[in-house]
Amino acid sequence: MRILVTGGAGFLGSHLCERLLNEGNEVICLDNFFTGRKVNIEPLLNNSRFELVRHDVIDPFKYEVDQIYNLACPASPPHYQYNPIKTTKTSVMGAINCLGLAKRVRARVFQASTSEVYGDPAVHPQPESYWGNVNPIGRRSCYDEGKRVAETLFFDYHRENKVDIRIVRIFNTYGPRMHPNDGRVVSNFIVQALRGEDLTVYGDGSQTRSFCYVDDLIEGFVRLMNQTETVGPMNIGNPGEFTMLQLAELTLKLVGGTSKIVHKDLPADDPKQRRPDITIAKKVLKWEPTVPLEEGLKRTIAYFKTQV
Ligand code: NAD
Ligand code: UDP
Repeated sequence: MRILVTGGAGFLGSHLCERLLNEGNEVICLDNFFTGRKVNIEPLLNNSRFELVRHDVIDPFKYEVDQIYNLACPASPPHYQYNPIKTTKTSVMGAINCLGLAKRVRARVFQASTSEVYGDPAVHPQPESYWGNVNPIGRRSCYDEGKRVAETLFFDYHRENKVDIRIVRIFNTYGPRMHPNDGRVVSNFIVQALRGEDLTVYGDGSQTRSFCYVDDLIEGFVRLMNQTETVGPMNIGNPGEFTMLQLAELTLKLVGGTSKIVHKDLPADDPKQRRPDITIAKKVLKWEPTVPLEEGLKRTIAYFKTQV
């Protein structure tokens, strides 16, 4: 197949491009390099089935492709809040452009949605049927509402134009190729510990997240894309739930060194708890995560040792 991956030079996108090439596909990676990096895809550049295009998803694009994975969007809170209007445009215009292309060339199109559509969830763990608790006017809403509108557009193109869609709701994912200055918690803690700096826990550290190792997530993506039982939305994530204090302590144990834990202000609207209900992924995809947090952190620490 010929497959377009938007955001293909980013953390998740580069792993996905690599996986799709390894399966024998042709891959077109489209990226504006806002948070993505050429080094993420450098090993792929001499593969004749790989093409790299510098382009912004808010402007239309045309390729003859069989499948589209739409991952273009900054994912870390500091990055998506840097230019919030652009973040909403990226989600909304990017979705419209991918859907328009999918309609024209009859490609199957996959949307990287997020657990952020559940906002600060009042239902725990979060099943796909939960409609969420999102502040529509807060600092996080450029991302959360942008992703919610993208889901709406996907379903309307599906209902109105018979576009073949898939929607995944991704829960916090980590692993090699995260940007060292990405600002997300796993990369922050590891980089701080490796540099001997104090680990910055926001608030009292009792808020929870559930962390999925990147290889598990990509396996879920490919299974969801290539089955025909459901269009989604489907949660993909690791149900193991940890407080940020527990994550900081585990990181310190694995990295060693002399860093301490310090507390900083909790950002506004920071979700208090998050854990995926993955009943549907287990049933339909026969998928569940295989890499426990401690093992995934060890692999991620080994990567960051080469970067920091
Ligand atoms: P990332 O920031 O590493 O990658 C995003 C990529 O999109 C980058 O390469 C960036 O340059 C590119 N991009 C951003 N705006 C663009 C634009 N306007 N036009 C073209 N390219 C653009 O983040 P990631 O973690 O790899 O996330 C990938 C996708 O998965 C995002 O859509 C994100 O919302 C979603 N997601 C990720 C997580 C996670 O934990 N990693 C969780 C939920 C959802
Ligand atoms: N966080 C933290 N220290 C950091 C970065 C993040 O304690 O240096 C917290 C943050 O407040 C949130 C959790 O870790 O409660 C996850 O943050 P991240 O930005 O990784 O993802 P998201 O909030 O989007 O799930």
